[in-house]
Amino acid sequence: MKAKRVIVWFRQDLRLHDNEAITDAIRCGEEIIPVFVFDERVFKGKTSFGFEKTGKYRAKFILESVKDLQQSLRNVVGAELIIRVGKPEEEIFHIAREAKTSWVFCNRERTKEEVDVQDALERNLWSIGQEVRFSRGKMLYYTQDLPFPVTHTPDTFTHFRKEVEKFVEVRKPLPTPTEAFAPLTINIEVGTMPSLKDFGHEPFEVDRRASLDFKGGETEGLQRLRYYLWESDNIATYKDTRNELAGADYSTKFSAWLAQGCLSPKMIYHELKKYEAERSANKSTYWLFFELLWRDFFRLMGKKHGNNIFLHTGTKGQIDRELKNDKHLLQLWTEGRTGVPFIDANMREIAHSGFMSNRGRQNVASFLINDLHVNWQMGAEYFESMLIDYDPCSNWCNWNYIAGVGSDPREDRYFNILTQARRYDPKGEYVKHWLQELNEVPLDKIHRPDTLSSEEQAASHVKIGADYPKAMISTERWE
Ligand SMILES: Cc1cc2nc3c(=O)[nH]c(=O)nc-3n(C[C@H](O)[C@H](O)[C@H](O)COP(=O)(O)OP(=O)(O)OC[C@H]3O[C@@H](n4cnc5c(N)ncnc54)[C@H](O)[C@@H]3O)c2cc1C
Repeated sequence: MKAKRVIVWFRQDLRLHDNEAITDAIRCGEEIIPVFVFDERVFKGKTSFGFEKTGKYRAKFILESVKDLQQSLRNVVGAELIIRVGKPEEEIFHIAREAKTSWVFCNRERTKEEVDVQDALERNLWSIGQEVRFSRGKMLYYTQDLPFPVTHTPDTFTHFRKEVEKFVEVRKPLPTPTEAFAPLTINIEVGTMPSLKDFGHEPFEVDRRASLDFKGGETEGLQRLRYYLWESDNIATYKDTRNELAGADYSTKFSAWLAQGCLSPKMIYHELKKYEAERSANKSTYWLFFELLWRDFFRLMGKKHGNNIFLHTGTKGQIDRELKNDKHLLQLWTEGRTGVPFIDANMREIAHSGFMSNRGRQNVASFLINDLHVNWQMGAEYFESMLIDYDPCSNWCNWNYIAGVGSDPREDRYFNILTQARRYDPKGEYVKHWLQELNEVPLDKIHRPDTLSSEEQAASHVKIGADYPKAMISTERWE
């Protein structure tokens, strides 16, 4: 028998397609109350090193995503999204108590802060005889389909991949609801959508140099999926372009929509299979699947190793080097004033757009840890604050990995910044895109402006140490 009334609490699953919480709620409840709570700790709080927990790029993206969900709920199922700002464990509890619901359906999260919130809500609901019913939907795979228990997930990506990719089926996405929800027979205050200002950010224009003008929401996420596969065929060359640094199309940019759950990974996978069947299957189409496997792998590492992914010693449980909590070095890095153009260009990109390529992320992380010897957690927190696509497991596990504190035995991911710069930005175009003060520097010196003579500086209209900083470490080491 169906319950009279249930809540769907949207979290990082801001979509109607392939949404298990909605599917379960429809099956179990007569009246469904959809709710989103802007958690004040997430939107107004600070990280332990003092960064905004959610910087303006992601705050804007999430606001857009929630608005899109609000619109889709109205259009598709005729329901009104209830909006609150506060603590979800209290706000949802109040609604549940007043509306006398039976259950709260939501996606189960696996990382500490999110788990604390869902546990607190669960305890509150128990006090009034109600329960949380958890669902899944973040990964390609269901853990119950895996050939190993989560606690036995292989700690190396290659082992993991070999155990799953050929043997475990990616389930079909759940259908988008089509029928209108039953009208609510009680009155619940709808609440008002907050603005960027409510979270301490001024409205802003996206920098014209940004790779992509990301717009949050399921509608935009599905459009980006259509575009990258069907409209542009970019997917057919993805493996060759994915290590580039600038522009909208060298990589999919699905990450921001995946992180907020606007796009389901299963949906991407099955669209990819359709593309392979109808257009072409090649190394590039496979490679998108391969990258999505990395995403699942890191989520499983988060499940298996719990809070350790956030600790200084990582999932490995030990660190074999001294890293400093040096705020001055960190600041030069975050501001893109290290004097190493390849690093600075990437750091200015993230500061001005909330995005950075995967290649860039690896290099700036390695530079911070291996060349500046700064505590990797400071870098990870800065990324958490700034990234439009921040995802706890993907971010912290990638940092673990580069800091050599991940569980993968291939430790010490040292990147020779100059070799990388010359390889991935051979004409210095990316550097010049973000560092206009270096626009006239000749190609042979673009990645090492510290070697410009005074005559060359005059000819390039740049004074090193004034217009652009001197390199903060000797770049000779990379030659
Ligand atoms: C230090 C560091 C921090 C990172 N932090 C995040 C983060 O917070 N959120 C995030 O989504 N990704 C993170 N990544 C992974 C990767 O850089 C981004 O997923 C990718 O750059 C996003 O762009 P895209 O969607 O165009 O990627 P594509 O190249 O088009 O890849 C497709 C999808 O595969 C997944 N993927 C690709 N590479 C990785 C990877 N190394 N780890 C996990 N998933 C991957 C992403 O979901 C991505 O959207 C981080 C990488 C590093 C090195």
